[in-house]
Amino acid sequence: MKKAIFPGSFDPITLGHLDIIERGVKLFDELIIAIGVNADKKYMFSLEERKKFIEDSFKDEPKIKVVTYKGLTVDFCLKNNVDFILRGLRNPADFEFEKAIAHTNRDLAPIETVFLLTAAKTSYISSSIVRDVIRNDGDYTKLVPETVRVQ
Ligand code: ADP
Repeated sequence: MKKAIFPGSFDPITLGHLDIIERGVKLFDELIIAIGVNADKKYMFSLEERKKFIEDSFKDEPKIKVVTYKGLTVDFCLKNNVDFILRGLRNPADFEFEKAIAHTNRDLAPIETVFLLTAAKTSYISSSIVRDVIRNDGDYTKLVPETVRVQ
């Protein structure tokens, strides 16, 4: 059984993440969307909100599970028999950043990182831009799944 994890902050999940998840799920038997918990980071959305946005987006997809985790992604993988880490690439900056993480992860554990190139139409979207649009009362709904709504 091929199990993969798609780790991230998802603050909030965007149409860019959605694209990677919808294409990535076809490659694996199970895809775990894992929200990393970092006590030092300030988030716009609480962990519960971020989790619910994702769960609501994929409630009809039995191959997708949503979890939260603390600590190293590779440790989560080893504990849960996950062999692959899925990541999305938007641009050269993503590539350089992801390359260092993937090499480090492979030093730590025999886990392969699989990269999917972003769809052209969502390649400019990032959670930080979405948060900026929300903070400034812009129409963020074009950038995120329907399940993401600010109260
Ligand atoms: P992190 O804090 O780990 O970077 P993010 O939630 O920002 O978490 O991103 C999680 C993953 O989703 C990363 O692999 C990132 O490159 C990818 N990603 C984010 N936005 C997009 C996008 N628009 N298109 C494709 N992949 C994306």
